[in-house]
Amino acid sequence: MNRRTLLTGIGLLTAGGAAGAAAGLAAEPALNTESPTARTVSPSGSAAYRATVTFRTAPSARLVALTFDDGPTREWTPQVLNMLRRHGAKTTFFQVGERAQADPGAVSRATDAGHEVANHTWAHSDLTHHDEAFDRASLERTHELLTKLSGRAPTLCRPPYGRIDSIGLAVCASLGYEVMLWSNWVNGGSPKFDVDETLRRASPGSIVLAHDGGPQPNATLMQQLDRLVGSMTDSGYTFVTVSELLAASR
Ligand SMILES: [Zn+2]
Repeated sequence: MNRRTLLTGIGLLTAGGAAGAAAGLAAEPALNTESPTARTVSPSGSAAYRATVTFRTAPSARLVALTFDDGPTREWTPQVLNMLRRHGAKTTFFQVGERAQADPGAVSRATDAGHEVANHTWAHSDLTHHDEAFDRASLERTHELLTKLSGRAPTLCRPPYGRIDSIGLAVCASLGYEVMLWSNWVNGGSPKFDVDETLRRASPGSIVLAHDGGPQPNATLMQQLDRLVGSMTDSGYTFVTVSELLAASR
């Protein structure tokens, strides 16, 4: 495996790594929201769970993934789909379950066009602020809805805010999910700067975060993402789904 992966232990919020069996998780209650979490999961069974967390890959071909979080939305998701279609680009949408439920046609339109949909929790919840039962219900409900609407089961989860610890990892592991973070971010507040930076620094295997929902999207972000995709496509890159990127990197 030549992917640059992290096995647990991400950033500020430490993860306990291999997590517990589905039954009998002994989670501490949610901590102060300003504190880094130090929660652990105590497995009571014999199963050893491990969740892989990936933030970029190293494919041999010039492949990159542009990803969209927090949709679908009626305002921005169609614009993203149009932009991607013009460039022949594919994406992965990390969708919020309740937003998919409110606009179910958006899910099938995305997958019919060859894009991937994946799990971003039911209500955009910080997985480190809730107990195991809540995290499981949030991810499973979203999983079932996306499976029903798209006809295929999602295989990826992106935790809101990029925050996950051993409890969320345990749930992701039990759903068979790979946890997906990102290596580059085009922020709605500084899209021109971020696209310039991404164009400078992107390389095969980059995973770029953008948004088609929440407070991030705006007209300038859409224009700059169009510039990003066009410019990188002209440079010989192909935009693929995250699952395609992972498959090409294994
Ligand atoms: Zn999000």
